[in-house]
Amino acid sequence: MNIPGEVIEKIKKLASRMDRKINIMHLCGTHEDTVTRYNLRSLLPENIELISGPGCPVCIIPDTDLQKIFHLLQNARVILTTFGDMARVPYRGRSLFYFRSKGHDVRVVYSIFDAIEIARKSSIPVVHFGIGFETTMPSTAIAIMDGVENFYVYSAHRFFLPAMKHLLELGEIKIDGFINPGHVSTIVGSRAYEGLKRFQIPQVIAGFEPYDVIFAIYIILKALMDDNPEIFNEYRRVVTEEGNLKAKDAMNRVFQREDWDWRGLGVVPDSGARIRDRYSDSDATKYFEDIFGDFTPQEDPVKKLCRCGDVLRGLITPEKCDVFNKACNPRNPIGPCMVSFEGTCNIWAKYGGR
Ligand code: SF4
Repeated sequence: MNIPGEVIEKIKKLASRMDRKINIMHLCGTHEDTVTRYNLRSLLPENIELISGPGCPVCIIPDTDLQKIFHLLQNARVILTTFGDMARVPYRGRSLFYFRSKGHDVRVVYSIFDAIEIARKSSIPVVHFGIGFETTMPSTAIAIMDGVENFYVYSAHRFFLPAMKHLLELGEIKIDGFINPGHVSTIVGSRAYEGLKRFQIPQVIAGFEPYDVIFAIYIILKALMDDNPEIFNEYRRVVTEEGNLKAKDAMNRVFQREDWDWRGLGVVPDSGARIRDRYSDSDATKYFEDIFGDFTPQEDPVKKLCRCGDVLRGLITPEKCDVFNKACNPRNPIGPCMVSFEGTCNIWAKYGGR
């Protein structure tokens, strides 16, 4: 780890001139990994709080989506594909791996194109449980545009920027600055954040090295001191103003924005990525309309115990959850924040938290 001491000194100097607590929220599981793995919080003055937000794409998927997928497995003969972490998320003590152990055909893939290969060789319908923000959404869009027969997508993808707006509007904690997600920014570009400027807080798009994060904190403090709530791109080596135009075009062609529920955040306006009608042939919710029409959501009693929603909103750190690293641990996760490698609880358990 190479963090020039002079940047830390500058942070300390700026913080000493601020007579209040400053809350900086980052929005990416990979940032939390960098922060906790290198214990960056220990380098910060006491009045600078670095908060983890809803940046884990597995964690924010609400139980309802998971229940619907379970319902599909129980009522149709399909091959279900998804990414590894999603298959371990428990709901009422069951996960997709549980269904696999009971004989259902659940397969973990590393890319949606692996799922397409499975569909090409199979006579049984293949349903891909598509999760992720703008980082994985373009490849799902391209896969859907390919229109492969026997291949369907259950879209649980969500657009990320509406969640940032939603958090600011909820106003549960005062957020003084955002460290914007590096991976999402690669796709959407720095200009995409212009719409958030009306909230008058500095935003820094940052890379994932310890120095990137520390430098982003310095930029935010300096911007606060100068009363300059701008968008700063610290990750210019990767992120451009426009982002990835081809990826954005594919997403816009295939997905339509809707108000969708997020774990912890509730319904976030314009955040859901529903497959447009013109691609309904690839939409699992249309192909299996009868089965999904039958579905009634249930409450999970464990929800009362798991405070993943509060962790995702930045209201608490994992240690504040009574079962953190006790009944809930990486080998026996109770909530998705402990399952996913990008989940804050998992990261804190792995590296020892603060
Ligand atoms: Fe939920 Fe486990 Fe995190 Fe507690 S430690 S909030 S139970 S995931």
